[in-house]
Amino acid sequence: SKTILLKNRPQGTPQNSNFEFIEEEKPSPKDGEVLLRTKYVSVDPYLRGRMRDEKSYIEPFEIGAPIASAIVAEVVESNNDRFEKGDFLTGSLEWKEYQTSTAENLRKVSSDENSLSANLGILGVTGLTAYFGLDRIGEPKEGETLLVSGAAGAVGSVVGQIGKIKGLKVIGIAGSDEKVELLKSKFGFDASINYNKTEDLAAAIKEHAPDGIDIYFDNVGSYTLDAAMKNINRLGRVINCGAISLYNETEKPTGPRLETTIVKQSVKMQGFIVSNYQEHFPEGVKQLSQWLNDGKLVKEETVVEGFDSIPQAFIDLFEGKNKGKMVVKIY
Ligand code: NDP
Repeated sequence: SKTILLKNRPQGTPQNSNFEFIEEEKPSPKDGEVLLRTKYVSVDPYLRGRMRDEKSYIEPFEIGAPIASAIVAEVVESNNDRFEKGDFLTGSLEWKEYQTSTAENLRKVSSDENSLSANLGILGVTGLTAYFGLDRIGEPKEGETLLVSGAAGAVGSVVGQIGKIKGLKVIGIAGSDEKVELLKSKFGFDASINYNKTEDLAAAIKEHAPDGIDIYFDNVGSYTLDAAMKNINRLGRVINCGAISLYNETEKPTGPRLETTIVKQSVKMQGFIVSNYQEHFPEGVKQLSQWLNDGKLVKEETVVEGFDSIPQAFIDLFEGKNKGKMVVKIY
């Protein structure tokens, strides 16, 4: 049974050499434990933060210890009365082919093959991040204009789609022609901008939103945030969900900038961690499932195959190789 350890801390962009594969014996479940076989692994930008030796809302990974992320796994042996062989569980687990667990912090999910990976994306953390961030911080009102960065990714693609459900005009920013096309054709965005092909991002936003932006859902930070702020309306809301363009920086950026805009335009700018809304997760999952079943939300995933591909799939997030949620299918 293979395990992936953090070998050393990435300097700048993560590399395969930051990870180490080891071979271990398949463990045996003790009393009260289940033996799990990993089926789907979520790779996420925030894991980059956990690879730094820095205090955060979540413990950093230790060098020489396994990486962990959200995983869907199958119970292959059970000494726990809550679960039986063949059940599928999800929660935070280690990057191991097989592992034992008391399953205390895991929950059972439907074993329907077609919906397993959705628990890591649209019906999991990224879907909930989109739902609660937009709703609770964005406070969207029909007819308003929403700008989303990282728009073709797991969080961004759901933010834009929910924006359309709520009657907003939605503009997305993403990194390729294929992605900006997808935003309009598949996710129903009103307009989209390829930041790699745009010299003046603020001007491009203005072109699509001549009356300005009421809500900016920021997944990217940095220059994209600056460009959005140049278009923010009075009483606008900025949702600081993430800043992926800064995660591999070795120098801490200064900022936030454009404070004068925040003051003059009376803008609300607020960060959040999805777990702030943990007690409301059942409500969020219920709503997202309903929209999905009604065809109002489209599920988009990039599925990479094989346990050995996990580190590369993670690295590829920073190259924009994914559309929708990046997951690794193990078997
Ligand atoms: P995505 O599926 O969006 O994958 C990452 C995407 O980011 C890539 O596909 C790429 O798309 C884009 N990207 C990578 N590097 C850069 C760069 N330098 N500049 C601009 N864009 C870049 O990941 P998630 O949906 O999982 O996460 C999106 C954001 O949400 C992240 O910032 C993450 O940290 C945050 N997040 C926050 C949570 C919270 O609780 N606050 C919870 C979950 C996620 P492209 O081709 O368009 O460049």
